[in-house]
Amino acid sequence: MTGCYFSLGLTMCVRNCFQSSCLQWAWRTTFLKHIQRRHQGSHGWTHLGGSTYKAVIFDMGGVLIPSPGRVAAEWEVQNRIPSGTILKALVEGGENGPWMRFMRAEITAEGFLREFGRLCSEMSKTSVPVDSFFSLLTSERVAKQFPVMTEAITQIRAKGLRTAVLSNNFYLPNQKSFLPLDRKQFDVVVESCVEGICKPDLRIYKLCLERLGLQPSESIFLDDLGPNLKAAASLGIHIIKVNDPETAVKELEALLGFTLRVGVPNTQPVRKTMEIPKDSLEKYLKDLLGIQTTGPLELLQFDHGQSNPTYYIRLANRDLVLRKKPPGTLLPSAHAIEREFSVVGTPFYVMEYCPGLIYKDPSLPGLEPSHRRAIYTAMNTVLCKIHSVDPQAVGLEDYGKQGAYIPRQMRTWVKQYRASETSTIPAMERLIEWLPLHLPHQQRTTVVHGDFRLDNLVFHPEKPEVLAVLDWELSTLGDPLVDVAYSCLAHYLPSSFPVLRGFNDCDLTQLGIPAAEEYFRMYCLQMGLPPTENWNFYMAFSFFRVAAILQGVYKRSLTGQASSAHAEQTGKLTEFVSNLAWDFAVKEGFRVFKEMPFKNPLTRSCHTWARPQSRWYPIGTRSYSSVPEASPARASRGGLVISPESLSPPVRELYHRLKHFMEQHVYPAEPELQSHQASAARWSPSPLIENLKEKAKAEGLWNLFLPLEADPEKKYGAGLTNVEYAHLCELMGTSLYAPEICNCSAPDTGNMELLVRYGTEAQKARWLMPLLEGKARSCFAMTEPQVASSDATNIEASIREEDSFYVINGHKWWITGILDPRCQLCVFMGKTDPHAPRHQQQSVLLVPMDTPGIKIIRPLTVYGLEDAPGGHGEVRFEHVRVPKENMVLGPGRGFEIAQGRLGPGRIHHCMRLIGFSERALALMKARVKSRVAFGKPLVEQGTVLADIAQSRVEIEQARLLVLRAAHLMDLAGNKAAALDIAMIKMVAPSMASRVIDRAIQAFGAAGLSGDYPLAQFFTWARALRFADGPDEVHRATVAKLELKHRI
Ligand SMILES: Cc1cc2nc3c(=O)[nH]c(=O)nc-3n(C[C@H](O)[C@H](O)[C@H](O)COP(=O)(O)OP(=O)(O)OC[C@H]3O[C@@H](n4cnc5c(N)ncnc54)[C@H](O)[C@@H]3O)c2cc1C
Repeated sequence: MTGCYFSLGLTMCVRNCFQSSCLQWAWRTTFLKHIQRRHQGSHGWTHLGGSTYKAVIFDMGGVLIPSPGRVAAEWEVQNRIPSGTILKALVEGGENGPWMRFMRAEITAEGFLREFGRLCSEMSKTSVPVDSFFSLLTSERVAKQFPVMTEAITQIRAKGLRTAVLSNNFYLPNQKSFLPLDRKQFDVVVESCVEGICKPDLRIYKLCLERLGLQPSESIFLDDLGPNLKAAASLGIHIIKVNDPETAVKELEALLGFTLRVGVPNTQPVRKTMEIPKDSLEKYLKDLLGIQTTGPLELLQFDHGQSNPTYYIRLANRDLVLRKKPPGTLLPSAHAIEREFSVVGTPFYVMEYCPGLIYKDPSLPGLEPSHRRAIYTAMNTVLCKIHSVDPQAVGLEDYGKQGAYIPRQMRTWVKQYRASETSTIPAMERLIEWLPLHLPHQQRTTVVHGDFRLDNLVFHPEKPEVLAVLDWELSTLGDPLVDVAYSCLAHYLPSSFPVLRGFNDCDLTQLGIPAAEEYFRMYCLQMGLPPTENWNFYMAFSFFRVAAILQGVYKRSLTGQASSAHAEQTGKLTEFVSNLAWDFAVKEGFRVFKEMPFKNPLTRSCHTWARPQSRWYPIGTRSYSSVPEASPARASRGGLVISPESLSPPVRELYHRLKHFMEQHVYPAEPELQSHQASAARWSPSPLIENLKEKAKAEGLWNLFLPLEADPEKKYGAGLTNVEYAHLCELMGTSLYAPEICNCSAPDTGNMELLVRYGTEAQKARWLMPLLEGKARSCFAMTEPQVASSDATNIEASIREEDSFYVINGHKWWITGILDPRCQLCVFMGKTDPHAPRHQQQSVLLVPMDTPGIKIIRPLTVYGLEDAPGGHGEVRFEHVRVPKENMVLGPGRGFEIAQGRLGPGRIHHCMRLIGFSERALALMKARVKSRVAFGKPLVEQGTVLADIAQSRVEIEQARLLVLRAAHLMDLAGNKAAALDIAMIKMVAPSMASRVIDRAIQAFGAAGLSGDYPLAQFFTWARALRFADGPDEVHRATVAKLELKHRI
């Protein structure tokens, strides 16, 4: 945006600041000289009048609205398409290429897209989704007339000149021509698709002149393309080449001889709720500035300024900017504009208006990569300058308190957040706890700006130089790295983020913008500091602050005080931003963890598995003493608890209660439960299971799976950490039936966690509660027979919008649990937008199982086992209509959800596989002790001993890896533990298969029978080498992460 504001000493306080050597204002005065020069320049517009021209003719794309080339360049960056592909394809074939034929309406939009798509794909040797480019090009967001042109047209017409559009244009699929302009602005509109003639064909220019009733020399033509201009010039029309609209308007002003820019850019009439009393303000300003004139005060409102409304004032040729607190009751100490008493209802200050450039979009569209880099370098430099000021030398030693800046800030923002809290946001709660525990050891103290972002800087219009720094309301003395982190917010926000645009979906290298790490390095280098290792902490803190601010804006929007029309959307954003902050906290936690010295290596003093109890359940006691008795805090944050005996007392007690329950109720029930699975009644739930479920619930052995991190208030589960649950889950894993009996079985666990993390309150009430109570069961439908589903981007099932419904069509298989009569919910994954970027095509819908159109084709078997009553079904979804409110998170968020769902869920399988293996080994030991072959007990055979030893070693290795993954998930979060999760998913099923196979071998043929659980264990261990994604995919992840982080 052009035009900015600058401080003017209107109040005593401000006047004093101007006169004093106070830093903030000192450099403003330096700027002021510069600005005043520019400002005077801006008043140099002279109205010459008497123009000889009678009309101005505008091209559309590239002149009135963004050019297809520019739109393409940015779209290519975002979609990772080789740069220049679209532009090359647009000019390919010249007059007879698809683009020009489309412009002459010789082919339809569909025909064009087909041909054009093929051409682009051939040229770039990659699939190019041209539909998505075309949608963007013609979208309301992009195809918007430049405000500077709207203003110019208004002025041209006000002077009595005529205006025309002369555009190479096309028909949309709805048979209307693409003209995102207000036709009333033009006397004549000439479009190539209507006339069947394209520029630079001279006939179309003549047609336009004819309709205007003018001679060529009486008109000026603006276009962005040389050949079109050349043709116009050959007829005698005056031409202006448009590279950017601002400069073109200046050239047009020079030719016409009158100003085209009387308005103030980026302003609008004052919003209704933001009106201020003009009379008292006018009187106040006239008194203060000694203005005698009687002319009225002109008042507009800037779009800029989310929390404090900002106004443009013109009074007797003075251009000023007023910034004030919003009306209404405010949060404590927010909006600290305490520099003025109340003339306009709330405190305010006034600044001088000055022209310059404010880049609102941090991806800096339309600039060259080198220019973008220069802008960010200038931003970094000016921040270094601010931080290099000696507060004492400029009299700012009392500008804020010395030291402990972040703890003070935390107190302030937590207080403000609490004051505006509308519901509990788990990530905010975690951050409020985590941030004070991870404060940087050393903090420097300098002047800090407090809101240092690109759009708070005013740049020189012609060179990458910062002219002024705006928005000092949060400035004080503090830790300068907070400013550095704050200036990198855009790096992590998407371009669609409504209040703070970002560019995390763009290729920074292609854009030329330094990455956040580089930006930090740049800063440290300029300041002569060592590299900042804990910058993730600062990012976490900065995003936490943004989340707190957004929550305030949201709260105000609810009470009608918000100063921006965007305010209402921000409520949803708080949660998004707090999750982002938590991601950084996790990264920082991981860094700290990696650097943690392990002073007390873990020791295992004893370990026994003994006491065979029956042929079905010879489960002994596993007792390790590892680290000394763990405190609850230690269990969740400190050393790795490798033994159930080292769990905190309440969890240890829970473990023993579960163990007792398994021995008393579960193992003895196994033969009956297995018989039920083989009986004719197998597709109905076993009454014994339902009975045992009630018992488990009564003993508090229910819903143990929900990790504390997803359910910090223990609203839904037992509030165990992943490590704590690992020990209990392993124990449940020793029986195939225990997980369901304790309501801890897949796929319900993953689905319940999904609902806790992402579900709306209504979705939770409808689905989560019955699942938590064990009254309903659920399934997860992703895999499809026709595509390789280990790559989830292949999933083809369609989710189409139709009125207030989504309609789904698709073919799925291996859907565990879908045959269970208790299954009420299908969590369905399908494509909502096949043209979106690859990872934003999929969405997740909650589909009630009684919706018409769900057709179960057959149960599939695993090595002949049906796994009744849930089974693994093949199913068709035919025109299944689901209300829109059943979408989880929103369209295109399927990947994000699937990742979140499968984190802990997948490691639960690994925990259970350790349980399978322990049970198998225990059974094996009992068996080989009781049977004699070739004159001695089997247990004395060397190969049997070797097998036992090998199995023990492999189980221990895998268990340690599982516990380590769980520990990292607790300490640093699921993302940071990605490598360990992938490793254990790679290791556990194969390990279990080998251990169980050895046990089967030692059993002889009985091992293959249904008399022991070994055959079933083996089957599921084998199946889990697919069910959680094939081994190869986990291996690929491990290798990728290994190469990325450990070269
Ligand atoms: C018992 C069981 C229960 C299941 N439950 C569910 C469920 O509830 N819901 C659901 O949606 N799905 C479920 N599945 C399906 C399971 O998620 C898929 O089988 C799995 O994701 C693999 O997909 P696919 O079968 O299409 O194999 P494909 O994707 O066709 O892969 C076939 C093979 O290709 C190889 N391969 C794949 N990727 C790579 C790579 N990157 N590198 C090297 N080789 C590779 C591997 O050898 C892989 O086994 C279940 C499967 C089983 C066996």
